[in-house]
Amino acid sequence: MADLKQLAGLIKELEDQLVVCMRCGMCQAVCPVFAETGREADVARGKLALLDGLVQELFKDPRGVNDRLMRCLLCGSCSANCPSGVKVLDIFIKARAILTGYLGLPPLKKAIFRGLLVHPGFFDRLLEWGAKLQGLFVKPVDDLLGTSCGRLLSPLGERHFKTLAPTAFHQMVKPMNTRPGASGLKVAFFVGCVIDKVFPPIGKAVLRALEHHGVGVYLPEDFACCGIPALSSGDTVAFERLVRHNLRRFTGQPFDVLITACATCTATIKKLWPLMAGELSPETQDQVAAIAAKTMDVSQFMVDKLGVGVINSAGTDKMVLLTYHDPCHLKKSLGVALQPRILLQANPGVRFQEMVEADRCCGLGGSFNLQHYDLSAAIGKRKRDRIAQSGCGVVATSCPACMLQITDMLSQAGDRVQVKHAIEVYAESLT
Ligand code: SF4
Ligand code: SF4
Repeated sequence: MADLKQLAGLIKELEDQLVVCMRCGMCQAVCPVFAETGREADVARGKLALLDGLVQELFKDPRGVNDRLMRCLLCGSCSANCPSGVKVLDIFIKARAILTGYLGLPPLKKAIFRGLLVHPGFFDRLLEWGAKLQGLFVKPVDDLLGTSCGRLLSPLGERHFKTLAPTAFHQMVKPMNTRPGASGLKVAFFVGCVIDKVFPPIGKAVLRALEHHGVGVYLPEDFACCGIPALSSGDTVAFERLVRHNLRRFTGQPFDVLITACATCTATIKKLWPLMAGELSPETQDQVAAIAAKTMDVSQFMVDKLGVGVINSAGTDKMVLLTYHDPCHLKKSLGVALQPRILLQANPGVRFQEMVEADRCCGLGGSFNLQHYDLSAAIGKRKRDRIAQSGCGVVATSCPACMLQITDMLSQAGDRVQVKHAIEVYAESLT
């Protein structure tokens, strides 16, 4: 638990940001949670009003405040639509840290974040065993989407989920440190947990595209989580340990850009590492700022740095009709929406078609999906309907976490639509 003096300082900092909200309600129109529940308490304005009286509420009903604050996807739709520029996500992230500092972290989360996540080697070994044994507990349900469900009573309920990959990315690919080739550029590759453990083909597609363009690659050994699962639960202790672990792996290496193929990792490194760096030493803060400034989504790197462009595919026979879902953390947090669309259309076999509400949240929201699955699935079904309406055989996106949610929704609906990462679609076209 944080001491009360420290908490008071954090609350004061929060109050300074809260005064910017003029209670106009523009955030209501775009909040996916409010669209399902119709409850003012679920929208950003309602949560900000609650936080305004945080000092009193902390002593009266801290768990009630925490529960209401956790009914949020951290999608950033409210921030993106706020005429006053209220930094809603920054406020919510800091408020969660304050409440967790006051209430303490639940034992299960403590065990996962501080016992597993911050020890990447141990975490990797454990999930390697999990990948070997998972067949005892799950059964495949959908060949096209590669989903499974629980054999008996499963804690994952009716979800159609992707299992752990039989071989994780870090087991397939050795650490790398190659020189720049024809492009003259070198990148550091931040893999992220979901790509490493569930979607290694995305990591392979990134390496394939980099090799094709003659880009040098630094891939460290023993890479770790970006820290977002811990931070979104208010655990700044585990978050800071993970930031320091990653800084030790990447700082001092000669690379031009740090790339990720996970929208959530990109937004976390670029926005949340600096936001939460206040308690770190000045030297560490400088390292955080330097890494954040160099971080880029892989499609942005391909298009803006390597000049990949749309290919005129007229006359091509094999036309795959494909649509795209904008991850909130890429479009709303970082403003990257054009580059993935260009990357997809750099594959001459693709015919691109926008879906309606392409940038509407898929409803995953990390632990939101675990704690409020009914709500998460209701939001996800709206996304599934828009994908089905597009008539496309493939939906691409730029975040492996969105891929988990979209896959679940399509699989439960029995749709014959493939889910791919934009870099996979691009890499398929490279000879
Ligand atoms: S957060 Fe922004 S959009 Fe929402 S009520 Fe406040 S000022 Fe209006
Ligand atoms: S971050 Fe998303 S879910 Fe949370 S209040 Fe804002 S719009 Fe609603």
